[in-house]
Amino acid sequence: MTASLRPAVFLDRDGTILRLVDYLADPRQVALCPGAREGLTALRAAGFFLVVVSNQSGIARGYLSESQRLAVSRRMEELLGSAAALDLLLHCPHHPQGAIAELAHECACRKPKTGMIAQALRALPIDPQASYLVGDSPVDIECGRRAGLRTVQVATGYGGRVTDPHRYDFPLPVPTAHAVDLGAAASWILVDAKAGADGADRGEAR
Ligand SMILES: [Mg+2]
Repeated sequence: MTASLRPAVFLDRDGTILRLVDYLADPRQVALCPGAREGLTALRAAGFFLVVVSNQSGIARGYLSESQRLAVSRRMEELLGSAAALDLLLHCPHHPQGAIAELAHECACRKPKTGMIAQALRALPIDPQASYLVGDSPVDIECGRRAGLRTVQVATGYGGRVTDPHRYDFPLPVPTAHAVDLGAAASWILVDAKAGADGADRGEAR
């Protein structure tokens, strides 16, 4: 690892940090997944950047406004507290079949595409080779895989379930590890990162 670079954990939001609510628009419905605050606190204390990468197609579909999205983000950060503060929150507002004309197009940022990862690498001094992605959906794991990250699939939210196989134009990815929730994912990452730093052979990221 280059001395001036730090590893990051890229985090899906809905079903990973926040309990799953379809097209979450009301800050009163924001609730943390089990282990989320504890896991992010441990990762931050260990020196990881915490970067949220979230598909928010509800914006293109006209289900929620930018100000509602911001209110949800503020409530999430309030619940997480300063010890689990997020370094960067990125979202993709697009969807090819959206109702809002200027957002209804193909883009480079909607997961499993890796545009948000690339954006974070431009914004922060992140060491991608020592970084991880945690998510609850195959779309997240595929995004991490394409970006060359080690991946952890949590059992909260969709828990890796394929909800609509027809939306996937890729083979189901195999995560590097599974964890019951973000707290357990953080514990695994801390052990795995230590092994990596010690030069242990941890296998390919897949
Ligand atoms: Mg999710």
